[in-house]
Amino acid sequence: MKFSLSELEYEKLKLREELGGKLSYERKRVALNDHHAAKPPVHCGLTIHSVVGCTFRCVYCYSPDMGFSITKAQPYALSGEELAYALLHNEFYLPGLKGTYLAFGSIGEPLHPNSLYRTFEYIEVFSRLLHNPLQLSTKTAVNKEIARRLAEVSRRSLNPLVSVVTLNCHDVLEPGAPAPLKRLEGVKFMREAGLQPMLFLRPLLPGFEQEVPELLEAAKKYGAVAAVFGSLRVTPDILARLKSAGVDVAPILSRVKRELKAGVQVSVPSGDLKSYAVEEARKVGLIPLLSACCANTLNLYLSLGVRIPCAGLDFVEGHFCTRCPVGCEKIRVEVDTGDVKRAVKNYLKIEAFGVAEMGPRLLILTRSKSRARRLLSKRIGYKRLLETAFRKRLVVGER
Ligand code: SF4
Ligand code: SF4
Repeated sequence: MKFSLSELEYEKLKLREELGGKLSYERKRVALNDHHAAKPPVHCGLTIHSVVGCTFRCVYCYSPDMGFSITKAQPYALSGEELAYALLHNEFYLPGLKGTYLAFGSIGEPLHPNSLYRTFEYIEVFSRLLHNPLQLSTKTAVNKEIARRLAEVSRRSLNPLVSVVTLNCHDVLEPGAPAPLKRLEGVKFMREAGLQPMLFLRPLLPGFEQEVPELLEAAKKYGAVAAVFGSLRVTPDILARLKSAGVDVAPILSRVKRELKAGVQVSVPSGDLKSYAVEEARKVGLIPLLSACCANTLNLYLSLGVRIPCAGLDFVEGHFCTRCPVGCEKIRVEVDTGDVKRAVKNYLKIEAFGVAEMGPRLLILTRSKSRARRLLSKRIGYKRLLETAFRKRLVVGER
């Protein structure tokens, strides 16, 4: 499979011109001033905010620490076309199936009744114009009609992650969210509508391990195809909320070796919990995954039959790769070395004398390895852009 940054850049420019021709000056100005036009990617893609705030009040949620409301959820101000236009000006964004992964969620519930129309609108516009892999994580009780609309507006390509972390303690941990079985019923409706819903078991809460097998079995019964696991992140406020909800935080604290500071999220080491959950998922016939990027990649394969190596390159170092049916490491990736040289010069300011393909890595040969390394770590957003475009890990060496 061929991967070309030049082709994606050309497509981006073309889309930008076409969409720009349809929008008024005022709408373009609003789009260009929006943070989606500038924000750098996270691990393997960009988060999309169709809603700001959430009323589900999960005690482990980090969005209140980031200043977002827990009493109201508001639809995002930009229209779908304005947001697409903003993305087309984001220097870290690439369109298309081989482009940037886009994930709805992170600072609110995208299927909250207040923002449902906005989320549908964004999914419809992105699917029609941009064609990126789309993912959405939700705790809403998705009914038949919502499931049908999600499948329709995304052309059956959306990757829905249904978040359930406990079956038995949701009333204290997620007091404002629908009951877990209602969420799992949504899994069933989405599957019937032609989507490939996955259980999102993030965070894996230390002390709640005994619930994992039952939860996985229930997800499988309702039609989930995979389960995605991730660690808890804590701040002093999150710990205080967990405590006041009656949760024994000792199993969490025993894992955190760093000092906690207000507003700084610390990931709770959970390797053993993840291994356990992966094993249990396999027992019930769910495909286990350890990153949201892998879920998006697997979804492309299951929903569209397209096998593209994961944009997060989780298979390169192998830490997060669970060897799912996509088989990223076996996909032949072809890149043009001239395209790579031009890209590292333009985006990373590295003059490459040669480029060598070493399996899933691209070795960039330069005069000064230490300078190139510095540039790679300073320009991490561009490094991610290039690694998404070429689906290979960039490494540097001296000539
Ligand atoms: S549903 Fe998500 S955004 Fe809303 S409170 Fe829970 S974790 Fe936070
Ligand atoms: S093969 Fe590995 S890296 Fe690729 S999507 Fe599957 S789990 Fe992720």
